Amino acid sequence: MTDLHRLSIRELSEGLKTAQFSSRELTEHYLKRIAKIDPKVKSYVTVTAEQALAEADAADAALKSGNAHALAGIPLAHKDIFCTQGIKTTAGSKMLDNFISPYDATVVAKAKAAGLVTLGKVNMDEFAMGSTSENSYIGATSNPWALDHVPGGSSGGSAAAVAADLAPIATGTDTGGSIRQPASFCGLTGLKPTYGRVSRFGMIAYASSLDQGGPMARSAEDCAYLMNVIAGHDAKDSTSINKEVDDYVANLNGTAVKGLRIGIPKQYFNVAGLDADVKARVEESLKKLEDMGAILVEIDLNMTEAYVPTYYLIAPAEASSNLSRFDGVRYGYRCENPVDLMDLYKRSRSEGFGAEVQRRILIGTYALSAGYYDAYYVKAQKVRRLIQQDFLKAFENVDVIAAPSAPTTAYKIGANLSPTEMYLGDIYTLAVNLAGLPAINAPVGFDKDSLPVGLQLIGNYWSESQLLSIVHQYQQNTDWHTKRAAIAEENA
Ligand code: GLN
Repeated sequence: MTDLHRLSIRELSEGLKTAQFSSRELTEHYLKRIAKIDPKVKSYVTVTAEQALAEADAADAALKSGNAHALAGIPLAHKDIFCTQGIKTTAGSKMLDNFISPYDATVVAKAKAAGLVTLGKVNMDEFAMGSTSENSYIGATSNPWALDHVPGGSSGGSAAAVAADLAPIATGTDTGGSIRQPASFCGLTGLKPTYGRVSRFGMIAYASSLDQGGPMARSAEDCAYLMNVIAGHDAKDSTSINKEVDDYVANLNGTAVKGLRIGIPKQYFNVAGLDADVKARVEESLKKLEDMGAILVEIDLNMTEAYVPTYYLIAPAEASSNLSRFDGVRYGYRCENPVDLMDLYKRSRSEGFGAEVQRRILIGTYALSAGYYDAYYVKAQKVRRLIQQDFLKAFENVDVIAAPSAPTTAYKIGANLSPTEMYLGDIYTLAVNLAGLPAINAPVGFDKDSLPVGLQLIGNYWSESQLLSIVHQYQQNTDWHTKRAAIAEENA
């Protein structure tokens, strides 16, 4: 079969169960595509061909025995931020260029236990700091829709791999938009779950109070399948929440949109820098949802102006603390011939971390320093609470809130935006992490340059099933999610 990569997760699951093809055939098919097409996209940091084939054989045996998990034998790619035992985990950093974790992240362990086949690890901005994946020390990844454009970030490798059909699904992480924005730039569906829904154990920490893993895929249905595997309480993550997990696939229904009250924040559609095409596509998608029975309600989110400054204080503060463990002594990069301990610390960190990571460590350390702690960090925490309250107030009157996922479509590689310009591009995604809410991106069309545009829907806590159902129903009535980049049409 030459078109196995066109099948949805449900179709793959059925095909494997009824032995129309084996997991080995499917895995070989993807490995061949990666070998032929990924040199142009550069989404993979590490391809684990040998291990993948062994996992495929094990899945085939389980499938034959008749008691395999629904996803057994289906390949996936992991963002290179999830620790994988025996396989390099770089987090896109020279600091971890040779790091091999002695254990699996819980997300990875759960995927393995379900019989999913790991194709490899995919590229990302260094320590998940960035919006283009260009901050990776390994080099930039291309957007499958236009190879001279970025796939977004920080989970750009995950997005590019799925959009080029080099993996049917991928894991990503989202601290301030890193699942939703690359999903938007690459025409995919990506879900950022409620904080605490997916275990952070073994996921290299950026900003611990904001980090959350989630699925990236072609459709809401595919995301639901992966959520069923990765969601759940984990005793190894103290912020993981012990609450029953939905069956996200069984919960998908065709009636989520009728009577749904969608809040449209006034402030969001007046943001300077909101691209006219993005605005138009998002408004068209909302019109479509209205035609399907949704009720659009104008709302106020008065804290909008505070999102970027608040996030860019709290995230670097937490990062400066989390990244202090990389000291050149215990693990990670170590400089050559240090003259003394101080020199070892200094040079290992200066040589091991890239420019953006160093910038954030500096900002974060400054904000946490004794004289400034109250003025910056404590103040930001107070504003964070106000942002959360703004959302909770809005949810008294609406079921979900609509926004673009990003003010623009994908940037050109090397566009070299200033840090401030880059940070302002995160305006629509940051508040969701500050409040700990779930949100989803769905593809809703293209701009004048044929680059994908995404709609973001933000839900109340634990509304993952609802968000997936809304997008699922939208996708049953539209075909944006079925569009393929030209490079994905190439055969290996
Ligand atoms: N672009 C944002 C940042 O650079 C968000 C990144 C993320 O979600 N990991 O921090």
